[in-house]
Amino acid sequence: MTDPVALVTGAGSGIGEATVRLFAERGHRVVAVDVDEQGLAALAELDGVVTVVGDVAREETNAEAVQRAIAEFGRLDTAVLNAGIGGAGPLEAAGSIERLDRLYAVNVRGTALGIRAAVPALRAAGGGAIVATSSVSGLRGDPGTWGYNATKAAVINLVRAAAIDYAAQNIRVNAIAPGGTVTGMTAGQVADPAFSRFITSRIPAQRWADPREQAEVVWFLASPAASYVTGVTVPVDGGLSANGGILLPPPAN
Ligand code: NAD
Repeated sequence: MTDPVALVTGAGSGIGEATVRLFAERGHRVVAVDVDEQGLAALAELDGVVTVVGDVAREETNAEAVQRAIAEFGRLDTAVLNAGIGGAGPLEAAGSIERLDRLYAVNVRGTALGIRAAVPALRAAGGGAIVATSSVSGLRGDPGTWGYNATKAAVINLVRAAAIDYAAQNIRVNAIAPGGTVTGMTAGQVADPAFSRFITSRIPAQRWADPREQAEVVWFLASPAASYVTGVTVPVDGGLSANGGILLPPPAN
């Protein structure tokens, strides 16, 4: 049996980068995919990691990532479909529907293309796991973030439907729903002390997540420990989605 092999999209920063590092540390060979070549540079130095530069909204990128896994490492066991973009702004603003189209292209089409590309290779390996990245913003609405909310909710139901279609082929499909996590996507919010405090006051754990805390749940969902788990989205949010939102959780001591 060769080493297990994972593919991770959105690998150049944040949650994806932490996932590549965790899987590599734990003995996986990894294909790291990102549209940002610079973000991948440090990962390309790691043992057992190869990189693919491309846009997940393009079929060719997903096909190339799976081909690299087979060509370099002989198999694919896990596909972590994590690449995503944010975007907020009034629905009535100029350009808002073009932004929605791009959010769908990356967050939904990119995930669907990733599943489609990975499934034949996972099947050939006798089964495997797909873990997508949704968001707490897929569980609820946020002010001014309708496009992101819509696409991240779509990921949750895409995962359910794909899980049903592939369960009998021993391919599990799950997602994480991160809450506020310190990454490139949230760097501006984290760097603004007043806004950062405002956000953490709403999180029962009273802090942002480290990307590695997301990667650990991806690891669990991909692992044999989760062999009977499929079609679910696990909030990894310090209790954020557990709170009804009317009252603030207790502050830190
Ligand atoms: P990040 O911006 O640090 O990392 C995202 C990576 O995805 C970047 O390297 C970027 O270049 C890459 N990417 C973007 N579009 C791409 C495309 N079309 N093709 C290939 N790569 C692309 O952000 P992050 O927070 O690590 O985001 C990872 C995932 O987590 C996203 O799906 C995001 O929506 C989700 N998420 C993040 C948070 C958070 O608080 N950070 C919360 C909920 C969900």
